[in-house]
Amino acid sequence: MSRSFCRIPVFIPQLGCRFACSYCNQAAITGITQAPPPEHIDRIVERHLSTLGADRQAEIAFFGGTFTALPVELQELYLQRAARYLQTDARITAIRFSTRPDGIDAAMLPVYKSYGVQTIELGAQSLHDDILEAVRRGHRRADVETASARILDAGLRLGLQMMIGLPGDSLSRSLETARRFIELGATETRIYPTLVMEKTLLAEQYRAGAYRPLTLEEAVDWCAELIPLFEAAGVRILRVGLHPSEDLVAGAGLVAGPFHPAFRALAESAIWGHIWRRADFGQQPAARPRLKLWVAPNQVNVANGHHGENKRYLETRFRKVSIYADPTLAGRQYRSALCS
Ligand code: SF4
Repeated sequence: MSRSFCRIPVFIPQLGCRFACSYCNQAAITGITQAPPPEHIDRIVERHLSTLGADRQAEIAFFGGTFTALPVELQELYLQRAARYLQTDARITAIRFSTRPDGIDAAMLPVYKSYGVQTIELGAQSLHDDILEAVRRGHRRADVETASARILDAGLRLGLQMMIGLPGDSLSRSLETARRFIELGATETRIYPTLVMEKTLLAEQYRAGAYRPLTLEEAVDWCAELIPLFEAAGVRILRVGLHPSEDLVAGAGLVAGPFHPAFRALAESAIWGHIWRRADFGQQPAARPRLKLWVAPNQVNVANGHHGENKRYLETRFRKVSIYADPTLAGRQYRSALCS
C-alpha cells in the first residue's frame, strides 16, 4: 500500500529575485516576509515531522523566490540541511525547489541531484512572449524550453507553473501554454489565477484602469478547461489557485482578482457541471423520472456542485436527483440509473 504524501514548505520570499514581476508581492501572498537562515531549516522540518505520522512520506520544498539565483554557498547550505533528513528520517524521501526558467545552470543540476533534489519547478507563467514582457518577467518562452530540456536531461522531474488571466491572456492562449507544457514533458503543474496584490505594478495598472483581472467565474471556467487537458496527458496538478494564507483569506494585501479559499473545488465542480450537461442518461421511463448517480467517493461533493448547483441543474430535468459514492469508480467515472 502506498504511503500518503505531503510537502514540508520552506518559503524563501523573493530571495534571489533580480526582477520585480508586475504581479508579485510574495509577502502578501504567503504572509512571510523573511527567508529563514539555513540553521532554521531544522526547526521548520522538525515542527512538521512532529505531527507527521509514521506511515506518511514527505518532501522538503523550497518555494517562493528564485532558488538557483541565491549564492551557490547559500543554496548548498539550505540543501545540506534538508539532505540530512534524507539520511536520518525514512519519512523524508526527496527535496524540491522552485525557480525561474532563466535560472537553470546545467552544471549545477548534478549538484542538486547529489543532495537528493528530485523535482525542479519552473515559474513559466505563460509561453507567450508578449505576456511575459507585459508582466516584466525578464525571461522568454525560449528560456522555459531550454530549462525544461536541461532538467529532464539531468534525470530530474519537471514542474511547470502557469498563471491565467495575466495582461494580454485569453482562454485560448492559456490552453496553448498548457499544451506546450505537455509537449515539453512537464510531469506536474500548478495553475494560478492572477490576483492583484497591494504594492505591485499590477495594482497600479488595475487602479488606472489598464488591467482587468478575470472574474471568479471566468477563472473557474478556464481552469475547468485546463484541468482535463493536463489530466488526459498524465500531468499531475499539484495546485489550482493560490494557497489561502491567513492574510489572503482576511483580504489583507488583496486588491482584486478571482480569489476563493476553495478555488480548486469550484473548478472541479464546474467540470462536473459540464459532464452533467453533456450526459445522455438513456431512455426516460417516465415524463420526469428520478435520476440516481454514482461517482467515486472523493467526487461526491464536487459532482453535486458548489452549494449543490450541479444537482439543482439536474433537478430542472429530473424529478429527484441523488448522487451516491461508489468505491469501484475512480476519477470522473460515473454510472446512472433512471427510475420512474
Ligand atoms: S521571480 Fe517569482 S518570486 Fe521573484 S518577483 Fe517574479 S514572481 Fe516574484
